[in-house]
Order: sequence, then structure tokens, then C-alpha cells
Amino acid sequence: MEKYYRLKNILLSVIDEVKKQDFLVYFRKMSILEVNEKEIVFGTVSTFMKDNLQAKFYDTIKKATIKEFWDNIQSISFKVDNRIDNPSNKDAIECTSFYKESKKKTKKTNANLSYSPMPMEQKKGNSKRYSLSNFVVWADNQLAFSACEAVARNPGKSYNPLYIYGDVWLGKTHLLQATWNEIMKKYKGKKVVYTTADKFITEYVSAVKKRNVEKMRSKYAEIDVLIVDDVQFFSKKEQTQNELYNVFNILYDGNKQIIISWDRTPKELTELEPRLRSRFEWGITVDIGRPDFETRLAIIQEKAREKEFLIPQDVSEFIAANVTENVRELEWVLNQLIAEYELTGNTPTLTRIAAKLQKLNFTKDLIGESKTKRVSTIKSYEDILDAVSSHFGIEKEGILWGNRKKEFMIPRQVSMYLLKKKMNYTYERIGNIFSGRNHASVLYSCNKLEKIIKKDKNLLYELNAIQDSIGI
Ligand code: ADP
Ligand code: MG
Repeated sequence: MEKYYRLKNILLSVIDEVKKQDFLVYFRKMSILEVNEKEIVFGTVSTFMKDNLQAKFYDTIKKATIKEFWDNIQSISFKVDNRIDNPSNKDAIECTSFYKESKKKTKKTNANLSYSPMPMEQKKGNSKRYSLSNFVVWADNQLAFSACEAVARNPGKSYNPLYIYGDVWLGKTHLLQATWNEIMKKYKGKKVVYTTADKFITEYVSAVKKRNVEKMRSKYAEIDVLIVDDVQFFSKKEQTQNELYNVFNILYDGNKQIIISWDRTPKELTELEPRLRSRFEWGITVDIGRPDFETRLAIIQEKAREKEFLIPQDVSEFIAANVTENVRELEWVLNQLIAEYELTGNTPTLTRIAAKLQKLNFTKDLIGESKTKRVSTIKSYEDILDAVSSHFGIEKEGILWGNRKKEFMIPRQVSMYLLKKKMNYTYERIGNIFSGRNHASVLYSCNKLEKIIKKDKNLLYELNAIQDSIGI
């Protein structure tokens, strides 16, 4: 039992040093296999975990161990513990539940501290989370984005009024609020108002009741930048449309910036009064369309990064291939994964996410079922690694994590080369897959292989054989 308590203390120090996600993903379950005056051997669940702990957390674990044993320990190492899941093993610690337990304790002990950091939810609930820098740009929103950027740089000068339309959940509100934040940051003295048609209507109705429409009018007349979201809600509200029309005229005449969004196609603008409609036509109109596969992938990764959630490449590719309608759905699926992970400790895997999407009714084109060409041609980096590893008869982990041993070097270079040339991955992305190597080292490996295959025809044949085996 002593080992158990020693390990507990070590893990407690580790928790303070590493990111939550890293701790939950890489530590999983641990034990102390052996300990004497000078050295300690930690038990892990698999070779993969062992290599990860060794490569990424060696220093942190060593520091925590020395703290626990008062400097005596000189060497630490890791070994797969075959008994780790054995119920009679009382030394092993299940890290997910241990993490939760430790947090509950620290919360209680910290309760009296005067400093309490803002809870995450509160931070996220703020509209500040919408910024131009976290807006992902794709082919069919590029124009809208550039127009908003230009307006934020120079409100009232270039595109006025700016009118943005597109289907629901494609990022109009995000873009509008981001522009709003940006202008307020740059032009501290300007009066910048973001409102929605809904709010405007409520405000107007209440002003009519209180008989102070004039006051509302003069308030709006002083604005420098007016942003109105979701103007489709004005349809059939003639009185308020009239009011907006007046506000429009005043602001427009004063060279003030106006930005408008509309949730539908411009054809449906006919539901608005011709007078107001014609005002919209003064300015420029840009639309937002759906994101393509690469962009959906980028969005998932960006959102996961924002939430500090580690999501494997193959899982994000799978989601991007199957969740195609809009950004909100992508976010929603990601949030489901995070929630499940937080509740059960289940990390997202391809099998799990396939089952999940099926349950959530994104069943039409699931890759696993290979029903459509589009989806079945998408390969993940796992496919390439599988093909390379089975071709050379070595373990995938060796390719990913193995050291500089010669037997791993060529297969690793081949994998990187294929990811670059055939899958168009960036060097950064490849580096991340291969245990966080940097851009330069991946570039070097790809160039090196290119040189080798120019001379070594046998290797070139092997490369072709691997490509044929997975049809890339
Ligand atoms: P809309 O107003 O068009 O209905 P939203 O702006 O509310 O859409 O977008 C829905 C969700 O998707 C929001 O959480 C938003 O942050 C996210 N989103 C939409 N487009 C993008 C984008 N281009 N980049 C990053 N996030 C986006
Ligand atoms: Mg919106």
C-alpha cells in the first residue's frame, strides 16, 4: 500500500504541472512496479503510453518523484504493467477518477482564498469570444470576411451599407459581433451599436407605449456604427420597418457605417417593404456559403484547440467528412464528445464517434459504410500508417514514436512523404502526428526520401506498392 500512497502524491504534483487533457489522455492508469533507494519503475497500461510518458513527461514525473522521495531517487523508468487491470492489484491508480477526486479536494481547500479565477463558462459566454482572428475563412465566406475587415479598419468609408446574407449557423452573427468588437477596440470614442431586429422591434414597441419614440430616434441618430443582425425578423412588421428606414436615412446621410445581416437568400427580401429593400441595395451585398471538407476539418481543430480538447486527427477527419451542413453542427458534435469525455473519461476514437454520429442521425454518408464515393475516397493518416507498417512488417508505434533506429527511419520518412505528397498535409500537421516533431525536421525527412528514391529504384517500387495497396 505504501507504493499506492507514494504514487498518489507524485500524481498530485504532476497534475499541477501538466494540462488536464494531457494528464487524462497520457497517464490513464499507473502503478509503481519497483522502488528502492535509488531508482523507481512506473507501470503503464501499454507500450504506447510508456513511450509517451517517457518522451513527453519524463522531466515532470522525475521532478515530482524527487519531491516525494527527498532527492534520493536518481533514475526513473517506465514499463508495461501486465497486472495493472487486475482487480486484485491495489497499487494501480485510475487517473481519470483520481483527477476528479483531486480537483474536488483542491476546490474545497481553495475556497477561502481571496483570488478566484473566472469560471470558464462565464468567459465563454461573453461576446468577446467572437473575434475576427478566430473566424475561419473559407472560399464561400472570404468576401464577407474581407468586407468586414475593411469596414473594421475604416468604418463608414468603404462598404456602406454592408449587407451579409446566408443560411442559418454559417457564421453571420460571429462575423458581425467580431466586427463590432474590433471597431470598439480600434475606435474608442465611436458609438458602435450591435442590435438584432428582435431587440429593435421590442425597443420600438416599448418606445411607442411610453410615447418616447423621439428619444429612441435621437439615440440612434447619434450612432457612428450600427449593426443590425437577423433583419428577416422585420418581415411583416411595417411600423418598425418604417422606423428602421428613418434611422437608416439619417445614418447614411451622415456617412455613418451600417451593417446588416439576413438569414435567407436575397430573393426572400421581397417580404420587406420596397422602400427599405431599396435601401439595402445601396451598399454591397455579400453572401456566406457552406464550408468545404478541408475547412470543416480546420474548424473542428480550431474549436477543439480553443476548448483545450485533444482530438485525434482521424476522428476530426471523420467528423468533417460526415457533418457537412453548418458550423454549429460541427461545434455541437464536438461538444458532445467533450461532454462524454468529461463524464465518462472515454477518449474519442473512430469506432466510438461512428457509433455516436449514427445515434445523432448523421448517418447518411458514414465513412465506415463506404456508401458514397466522396466519403470512401477520404483517407486518414491512420490508413497510410497502417499500409506502411504492414508493408515493412514493423509496428505502427515504432514509426510514430520509435527513436532513430534505422529500421524505423525509412518507414517514417515514407509515411511523412506520402502524407505530404498524396494527402497535402502541412509540415506542421505531419510533425504533430509524429510525436510533435518540428516543421524543419519533417521537411528534411521528406526531402531526404525524395533524394533516396531518385537513386534507389527498389525503394521507389516499394513506395508505389504501398500507394497501390490503399489506392492513393
Ligand atoms: P448565424 O448567425 O449565421 O446563424 P453563428 O454566427 O451563430 O451563425 O454561427 C454558429 C456557430 O458557428 C457559432 O458558435 C460560431 O462561432 C460558429 N462559426 C460559424 N462560422 C464560423 C467561422 N467561419 N469560424 C469560426 N466559427 C464559426
Ligand atoms: Mg445569427
